[in-house]
Amino acid sequence: MTNTEPLLEVDNLQVHFKLHGGLLGRHQATVRAVDGVSFRVDQGETLGVVGESGCGKSTTGLAVLRMIDPSAGSIRLNGDDITLYKGRQLRRIRRRLQMVYQDPFGALDPRMRVLDIVGEPLLVHKLTSDRHAYRKRVLELLDLVGLNPKMAERYPHEFSGGQRQRIGIARALAAEPELIICDEPVSALDVSIQAQIINLLEDLQSELGLTYLFIAHDLAVVRHICDRIMVMYLGQVVETASRDTLYDQPMHPYTQALLSAIPVPDPRAETAREVDPSLQGEVPSPVNPPSGCPFHPRCRHAHDACRETKPPLRELQSGHAVACHLYDPAASEVNAPWPVARPA
Ligand code: SF4
Repeated sequence: MTNTEPLLEVDNLQVHFKLHGGLLGRHQATVRAVDGVSFRVDQGETLGVVGESGCGKSTTGLAVLRMIDPSAGSIRLNGDDITLYKGRQLRRIRRRLQMVYQDPFGALDPRMRVLDIVGEPLLVHKLTSDRHAYRKRVLELLDLVGLNPKMAERYPHEFSGGQRQRIGIARALAAEPELIICDEPVSALDVSIQAQIINLLEDLQSELGLTYLFIAHDLAVVRHICDRIMVMYLGQVVETASRDTLYDQPMHPYTQALLSAIPVPDPRAETAREVDPSLQGEVPSPVNPPSGCPFHPRCRHAHDACRETKPPLRELQSGHAVACHLYDPAASEVNAPWPVARPA
């Protein structure tokens, strides 16, 4: 259940990395990892951010966390532009923004007991008054994420992958955050465990009123947890819509291609399923992005305008925006969207 207050508003975010080289270390190229991304996340909702590796989704998450400095744009949390924050202000804002990482083992210090891993944010952000309250809170958090509090004295290597991800979630919750950025939180887990972690995140959201930015590389994972989905390609947003609209009426050719890659449970339909060939090509380098539409070298619907002019992100229906010339009413050579290619 969401209300309509934006918790997070990102406007024209850019994250460009300068590459230096040569004997004099001169600037040689710029990686446009995130190139003008705007979105909002309302309180209590889950926004999915989806795209192939290198599309800028994780960099966007790190910029929101202020772990990477944006090159331009604003990031507003409850109306305050946190790109302007430094020092103590920045440390304070970090408590309100937490991350759950893709690799639960790599994210946990193997030399620390779970008690200390989960409890560390309580100390860092001065959220506990004494040792007894500290321990009590850690045990509560372990229970909240479905782990036996008696395991608090153990070390990360004594847990399974799914349990380690639960520890990572407990650690994020310890800081009492308003927004949790889940960066591919289930992609390193067995399929059988993925659903358990997704269900846990959903339960915690209902119980604690959390807001999630949920990053994933495919559209299969985000379907069950997200209210809205933003599809990114080469540092830019190409389509954004409510979950149901995106799955039922995907409009951007890249979104359609991503949907065609989702396996289907029916074995006969799965055998007949054809993955859109657009996905077989390489993602172009963000150092030297294509002219016009960034997807045009892979798009089977590309035409002259696509190679020359970048399509703006246009809202075609309420809440459904697409960056594609096929939907430009001013483009005379285009008639109407083609039938949507979807898995059976
Ligand atoms: Fe394809 Fe052109 Fe649309 Fe880009 S603008 S997605 S190249 S049809």
